Amino acid sequence: MSLKPEIEQALALLRHSFVFGRLAHAYLIAGAPRGAAGVLAQRVVEMLYCTAPGERPCGQCAKCRQVAAHAHPDVVWVEPQKRSRGILMAQIEAVQEHVNLTSFEGGWKAVVFLNADRLNPQASNRLLKTLEEPPDKCLFLLVTDQPAALLPTVVSRCQRVVLAAEALTAGAELRAIVVDAMTGVEGRSLVAAVGRSRKVLGFLKQARAEIEKAVDESGNTEANASEELKAAKEIREARIESLYKEALAELFRWLVLWQRDVLLQVAGAGGPAALEFPDQAQAIQRQAAALTYRRALDNINTIEDMRWQVAQNLPVPMVLERGFIRLTAEH
Ligand SMILES: [Zn+2]
Repeated sequence: MSLKPEIEQALALLRHSFVFGRLAHAYLIAGAPRGAAGVLAQRVVEMLYCTAPGERPCGQCAKCRQVAAHAHPDVVWVEPQKRSRGILMAQIEAVQEHVNLTSFEGGWKAVVFLNADRLNPQASNRLLKTLEEPPDKCLFLLVTDQPAALLPTVVSRCQRVVLAAEALTAGAELRAIVVDAMTGVEGRSLVAAVGRSRKVLGFLKQARAEIEKAVDESGNTEANASEELKAAKEIREARIESLYKEALAELFRWLVLWQRDVLLQVAGAGGPAALEFPDQAQAIQRQAAALTYRRALDNINTIEDMRWQVAQNLPVPMVLERGFIRLTAEH
Protein backbone atom coordinates (compact mmCIF):
# COMPACT_ATOMS: atom_id res chain seq x y z
CA MET A 1 0.00 0.00 0.00
CA SER A 2 1.59 3.27 -1.01
CA LEU A 3 1.04 6.29 1.17
CA LYS A 4 1.71 9.97 0.71
CA PRO A 5 5.31 10.84 1.69
CA GLU A 6 4.26 12.92 4.69
CA ILE A 7 2.25 9.99 6.07
CA GLU A 8 5.13 7.56 5.43
CA GLN A 9 7.51 9.91 7.21
CA ALA A 10 5.32 10.38 10.28
CA LEU A 11 4.54 6.66 10.41
CA ALA A 12 8.25 5.79 10.24
CA LEU A 13 8.95 7.92 13.31
CA LEU A 14 6.12 6.37 15.27
CA ARG A 15 7.16 2.88 14.19
CA HIS A 16 10.62 3.60 15.52
CA SER A 17 9.21 4.66 18.90
CA PHE A 18 6.95 1.60 18.96
CA VAL A 19 9.71 -0.88 18.14
CA PHE A 20 11.89 0.57 20.89
CA GLY A 21 9.06 0.63 23.43
CA ARG A 22 8.99 4.40 23.57
CA LEU A 23 5.56 5.14 22.19
CA ALA A 24 3.93 8.07 24.02
CA HIS A 25 0.52 7.57 25.62
CA ALA A 26 -1.14 10.21 23.51
CA TYR A 27 -0.54 11.86 20.16
CA LEU A 28 -2.23 14.86 18.66
CA ILE A 29 -2.30 14.33 14.90
CA ALA A 30 -2.86 17.69 13.20
CA GLY A 31 -4.36 17.41 9.73
CA ALA A 32 -7.57 16.48 7.96
CA PRO A 33 -9.48 13.78 9.89
CA ARG A 34 -10.83 12.44 6.57
CA GLY A 35 -7.50 12.89 4.84
CA ALA A 36 -3.89 12.15 5.73
CA ALA A 37 -4.32 12.59 9.48
CA GLY A 38 -7.13 10.04 9.59
CA VAL A 39 -5.13 7.63 7.44
CA LEU A 40 -2.09 8.02 9.68
CA ALA A 41 -4.16 7.33 12.81
CA GLN A 42 -5.52 4.15 11.26
CA ARG A 43 -2.06 2.98 10.22
CA VAL A 44 -0.66 3.60 13.70
CA VAL A 45 -3.43 1.54 15.28
CA GLU A 46 -2.89 -1.23 12.72
CA MET A 47 0.77 -1.23 13.72
CA LEU A 48 -0.21 -2.16 17.31
CA TYR A 49 -1.95 -5.34 16.19
CA CYS A 50 -0.36 -6.30 12.85
CA THR A 51 0.92 -9.88 12.72
CA ALA A 52 3.00 -9.60 9.55
CA PRO A 53 6.57 -10.87 9.79
CA GLY A 54 8.12 -7.85 8.06
CA GLU A 55 7.57 -4.15 8.46
CA ARG A 56 4.39 -3.31 10.32
CA PRO A 57 1.66 -2.43 9.63
CA CYS A 58 1.26 -4.51 6.50
CA GLY A 59 -2.30 -3.34 5.86
CA GLN A 60 -3.12 -6.86 4.60
CA CYS A 61 -3.29 -9.27 7.51
CA ALA A 62 -6.52 -10.13 9.32
CA LYS A 63 -5.67 -7.78 12.22
CA CYS A 64 -4.89 -4.82 9.98
CA ARG A 65 -8.13 -5.36 8.12
CA GLN A 66 -10.06 -5.66 11.36
CA VAL A 67 -8.70 -2.29 12.48
CA ALA A 68 -9.45 -0.68 9.12
CA ALA A 69 -13.03 -1.95 9.30
CA HIS A 70 -13.41 -0.37 12.77
CA ALA A 71 -14.15 -3.91 14.01
CA HIS A 72 -11.25 -4.56 16.39
CA PRO A 73 -12.61 -5.08 19.93
CA ASP A 74 -9.66 -3.29 21.57
CA VAL A 75 -10.03 -0.13 19.50
CA VAL A 76 -12.60 2.57 20.11
CA TRP A 77 -13.32 5.26 17.52
CA VAL A 78 -14.88 8.42 18.90
CA GLU A 79 -16.64 10.91 16.64
CA PRO A 80 -19.04 13.82 17.15
CA GLN A 81 -22.45 12.23 17.62
CA LYS A 82 -24.96 14.79 16.59
CA ARG A 83 -25.07 17.57 14.10
CA SER A 84 -23.36 20.72 15.41
CA ARG A 85 -22.81 19.08 18.79
CA GLY A 86 -19.55 17.99 20.22
CA ILE A 87 -18.04 14.81 21.50
CA LEU A 88 -20.04 14.27 24.66
CA MET A 89 -19.38 13.30 28.25
CA ALA A 90 -21.12 9.93 27.82
CA GLN A 91 -18.66 9.05 25.06
CA ILE A 92 -15.71 9.83 27.32
CA GLU A 93 -17.22 7.71 30.09
CA ALA A 94 -17.49 4.83 27.64
CA VAL A 95 -13.85 5.39 26.67
CA GLN A 96 -12.77 5.30 30.31
CA GLU A 97 -14.64 2.09 30.84
CA HIS A 98 -12.98 0.63 27.77
CA VAL A 99 -9.43 1.53 28.75
CA ASN A 100 -9.88 0.30 32.31
CA LEU A 101 -10.92 -3.15 31.18
CA THR A 102 -8.37 -5.78 30.28
CA SER A 103 -7.88 -5.88 26.53
CA PHE A 104 -9.67 -8.63 24.66
CA GLU A 105 -6.49 -9.92 23.15
CA GLY A 106 -4.16 -9.28 26.04
CA GLY A 107 -2.29 -6.53 24.29
CA TRP A 108 -2.78 -2.92 23.40
CA LYS A 109 -5.88 -0.82 23.66
CA ALA A 110 -6.39 2.19 21.46
CA VAL A 111 -8.76 5.14 21.36
CA VAL A 112 -8.98 7.36 18.27
CA PHE A 113 -10.76 10.69 18.44
CA LEU A 114 -11.77 11.93 15.00
CA ASN A 115 -12.45 15.69 15.02
CA ALA A 116 -11.03 15.92 18.54
CA ASP A 117 -11.65 19.68 18.42
CA ARG A 118 -15.32 18.86 18.94
CA LEU A 119 -14.70 17.66 22.50
CA ASN A 120 -16.84 19.90 24.67
CA PRO A 121 -15.18 21.45 27.75
CA GLN A 122 -16.66 18.99 30.26
CA ALA A 123 -15.73 16.02 28.12
CA SER A 124 -12.23 17.47 27.65
CA ASN A 125 -11.75 17.80 31.38
CA ARG A 126 -12.89 14.26 31.94
CA LEU A 127 -10.56 12.99 29.23
CA LEU A 128 -7.74 14.99 30.78
CA LYS A 129 -7.97 12.87 33.93
CA THR A 130 -7.33 9.73 31.89
CA LEU A 131 -4.51 11.37 29.94
CA GLU A 132 -2.87 12.40 33.21
CA GLU A 133 -2.85 8.85 34.53
CA PRO A 134 -2.94 6.69 31.43
CA PRO A 135 -3.38 2.96 31.86
CA ASP A 136 -0.52 0.79 30.67
CA LYS A 137 -0.37 -0.22 27.00
CA CYS A 138 -3.05 2.20 26.02
CA LEU A 139 -2.69 4.59 23.08
CA PHE A 140 -4.75 7.75 22.55
CA LEU A 141 -4.79 9.42 19.14
CA LEU A 142 -6.46 12.81 18.84
CA VAL A 143 -7.03 13.73 15.20
CA THR A 144 -7.98 17.30 14.34
CA ASP A 145 -7.48 19.95 11.71
CA GLN A 146 -8.09 22.61 14.37
CA PRO A 147 -5.61 21.89 17.17
CA ALA A 148 -6.10 25.43 18.48
CA ALA A 149 -9.66 24.53 19.44
CA LEU A 150 -8.51 21.92 21.96
CA LEU A 151 -8.00 22.74 25.63
CA PRO A 152 -4.33 23.65 26.15
CA THR A 153 -4.19 21.27 29.11
CA VAL A 154 -5.22 18.40 26.81
CA VAL A 155 -2.73 19.45 24.13
CA SER A 156 0.06 19.55 26.72
CA ARG A 157 -0.54 15.86 27.46
CA CYS A 158 -0.06 14.86 23.83
CA GLN A 159 2.93 14.58 21.55
CA ARG A 160 2.26 16.45 18.37
CA VAL A 161 2.38 15.03 14.86
CA VAL A 162 1.89 17.63 12.13
CA LEU A 163 1.01 16.76 8.57
CA ALA A 164 1.61 20.15 7.05
CA ALA A 165 1.63 19.15 3.41
CA GLU A 166 -1.84 17.69 3.78
CA ALA A 167 -3.62 21.01 4.20
CA LEU A 168 -2.13 22.17 0.89
CA THR A 169 -3.13 19.18 -1.24
CA ALA A 170 -6.63 18.97 0.23
CA GLY A 171 -7.08 22.65 -0.49
CA ALA A 172 -5.89 22.59 -4.10
CA GLU A 173 -9.45 22.50 -5.39
CA LEU A 174 -10.59 25.26 -3.06
CA ARG A 175 -7.60 27.34 -4.06
CA ALA A 176 -8.69 27.05 -7.69
CA ILE A 177 -12.21 28.14 -6.73
CA VAL A 178 -10.87 31.21 -4.95
CA VAL A 179 -8.77 32.13 -7.99
CA ASP A 180 -11.80 31.66 -10.21
CA ALA A 181 -14.02 33.79 -7.98
CA MET A 182 -11.46 36.56 -7.56
CA THR A 183 -10.40 36.77 -11.21
CA GLY A 184 -13.26 35.27 -13.23
CA VAL A 185 -15.61 38.15 -12.51
CA GLU A 186 -13.75 41.40 -13.01
CA GLY A 187 -14.78 44.79 -11.78
CA ARG A 188 -15.98 46.39 -8.60
CA SER A 189 -19.67 46.59 -9.38
CA LEU A 190 -22.47 45.13 -7.30
CA VAL A 191 -23.17 42.69 -10.12
CA ALA A 192 -19.57 41.49 -10.03
CA ALA A 193 -19.74 41.01 -6.27
CA VAL A 194 -22.93 38.97 -6.49
CA GLY A 195 -21.40 37.00 -9.36
CA ARG A 196 -18.40 36.06 -7.19
CA SER A 197 -20.62 35.02 -4.35
CA ARG A 198 -22.69 32.81 -6.70
CA LYS A 199 -19.57 31.13 -8.09
CA VAL A 200 -18.39 30.18 -4.60
CA LEU A 201 -21.86 29.06 -3.55
CA GLY A 202 -22.18 26.88 -6.62
CA PHE A 203 -18.94 25.21 -5.73
CA LEU A 204 -19.95 24.68 -2.10
CA LYS A 205 -23.21 23.08 -3.18
CA GLN A 206 -21.28 20.66 -5.36
CA ALA A 207 -18.76 20.03 -2.56
CA ARG A 208 -21.58 19.20 -0.18
CA ALA A 209 -23.08 16.71 -2.63
CA GLU A 210 -19.67 15.05 -3.00
CA ILE A 211 -19.23 14.88 0.76
CA GLU A 212 -22.65 13.25 1.16
CA LYS A 213 -21.79 10.69 -1.48
CA ALA A 214 -18.41 9.94 0.14
CA VAL A 215 -19.97 9.53 3.58
CA ASP A 216 -22.66 7.19 2.25
CA GLU A 217 -20.10 5.12 0.40
CA SER A 218 -17.94 4.83 3.50
CA GLY A 219 -20.81 2.75 4.93
CA ASN A 220 -21.07 1.94 8.64
CA THR A 221 -24.68 3.02 8.60
CA GLU A 222 -26.41 -0.34 8.53
CA ALA A 223 -29.10 -0.60 11.14
CA ASN A 224 -32.28 -2.52 11.81
CA ALA A 225 -34.16 -1.23 14.83
CA SER A 226 -35.59 2.24 14.55
CA GLU A 227 -33.41 3.47 17.44
CA GLU A 228 -30.29 2.32 15.63
CA LEU A 229 -31.56 3.80 12.42
CA LYS A 230 -32.01 7.14 14.11
CA ALA A 231 -28.51 7.01 15.64
CA ALA A 232 -26.99 6.03 12.29
CA LYS A 233 -28.75 8.96 10.65
CA GLU A 234 -27.40 11.33 13.27
CA ILE A 235 -23.84 10.07 12.82
CA ARG A 236 -24.19 10.48 9.06
CA GLU A 237 -25.39 14.07 9.45
CA ALA A 238 -22.66 14.87 11.98
CA ARG A 239 -20.01 13.49 9.61
CA ILE A 240 -21.35 15.49 6.68
CA GLU A 241 -21.57 18.64 8.75
CA SER A 242 -18.04 18.32 10.07
CA LEU A 243 -16.58 17.65 6.60
CA TYR A 244 -18.51 20.58 5.17
CA LYS A 245 -17.14 22.81 7.93
CA GLU A 246 -13.63 21.65 7.07
CA ALA A 247 -14.21 22.66 3.46
CA LEU A 248 -15.54 26.06 4.53
CA ALA A 249 -12.57 26.66 6.83
CA GLU A 250 -10.23 25.83 3.96
CA LEU A 251 -12.13 28.14 1.62
CA PHE A 252 -11.79 31.08 3.99
CA ARG A 253 -8.13 30.30 4.52
CA TRP A 254 -7.53 30.71 0.78
CA LEU A 255 -9.66 33.84 0.60
CA VAL A 256 -7.58 35.42 3.37
CA LEU A 257 -4.37 34.41 1.59
CA TRP A 258 -5.61 36.06 -1.61
CA GLN A 259 -6.32 39.32 0.20
CA ARG A 260 -2.96 39.05 1.92
CA ASP A 261 -1.27 38.86 -1.47
CA VAL A 262 -3.17 41.98 -2.55
CA LEU A 263 -2.09 43.75 0.63
CA LEU A 264 1.58 42.82 0.06
CA GLN A 265 1.30 44.18 -3.46
CA VAL A 266 -0.24 47.44 -2.21
CA ALA A 267 2.58 47.75 0.31
CA GLY A 268 5.12 47.22 -2.47
CA ALA A 269 6.37 44.00 -0.88
CA GLY A 270 4.73 41.58 -3.25
CA GLY A 271 7.41 40.08 -5.46
CA PRO A 272 6.19 36.79 -6.97
CA ALA A 273 8.29 34.80 -4.48
CA ALA A 274 6.40 36.40 -1.58
CA LEU A 275 2.97 35.54 -2.96
CA GLU A 276 0.74 32.57 -2.12
CA PHE A 277 -0.70 32.94 -5.62
CA PRO A 278 2.42 33.66 -7.71
CA ASP A 279 0.66 32.38 -10.82
CA GLN A 280 -1.93 35.14 -10.39
CA ALA A 281 0.52 38.01 -9.92
CA GLN A 282 -1.04 40.10 -12.72
CA ALA A 283 -4.58 39.87 -11.40
CA ILE A 284 -3.36 40.63 -7.90
CA GLN A 285 -1.47 43.65 -9.21
CA ARG A 286 -4.59 44.96 -10.98
CA GLN A 287 -6.64 44.64 -7.81
CA ALA A 288 -3.93 46.18 -5.67
CA ALA A 289 -3.66 49.22 -7.97
CA ALA A 290 -7.21 50.23 -7.06
CA LEU A 291 -6.72 50.02 -3.29
CA THR A 292 -5.15 52.03 -0.50
CA TYR A 293 -3.14 50.18 2.14
CA ARG A 294 -5.89 50.85 4.65
CA ARG A 295 -8.53 49.45 2.34
CA ALA A 296 -6.51 46.32 1.58
CA LEU A 297 -6.19 45.73 5.32
CA ASP A 298 -9.95 46.24 5.75
CA ASN A 299 -10.56 43.59 3.12
CA ILE A 300 -8.68 41.01 5.16
CA ASN A 301 -10.85 41.93 8.13
CA THR A 302 -13.93 41.49 5.96
CA ILE A 303 -12.93 37.90 5.19
CA GLU A 304 -12.19 37.26 8.87
CA ASP A 305 -15.66 38.59 9.69
CA MET A 306 -17.19 36.26 7.10
CA ARG A 307 -15.36 33.32 8.59
CA TRP A 308 -16.60 34.27 12.05
CA GLN A 309 -20.20 34.68 10.88
CA VAL A 310 -20.18 31.24 9.27
CA ALA A 311 -18.78 29.78 12.50
CA GLN A 312 -21.76 31.38 14.28
CA ASN A 313 -24.02 29.38 11.94
CA LEU A 314 -25.31 32.37 9.98
CA PRO A 315 -26.58 31.25 6.56
CA VAL A 316 -23.60 30.81 4.22
CA PRO A 317 -25.27 32.38 1.12
CA MET A 318 -26.06 35.55 3.05
CA VAL A 319 -22.59 35.78 4.58
CA LEU A 320 -20.90 35.30 1.20
CA GLU A 321 -23.05 37.81 -0.65
CA ARG A 322 -22.75 40.51 1.99
CA GLY A 323 -19.02 39.87 2.34
CA PHE A 324 -18.28 40.06 -1.38
CA ILE A 325 -20.35 43.25 -1.68
CA ARG A 326 -18.41 44.77 1.20
CA LEU A 327 -15.12 43.80 -0.49
CA THR A 328 -16.00 45.69 -3.67
CA ALA A 329 -18.04 48.60 -2.23
CA GLU A 330 -16.63 52.11 -2.65
CA HIS A 331 -15.75 53.79 0.62
ZN1 LIG B 1 -0.87 -6.39 9.24
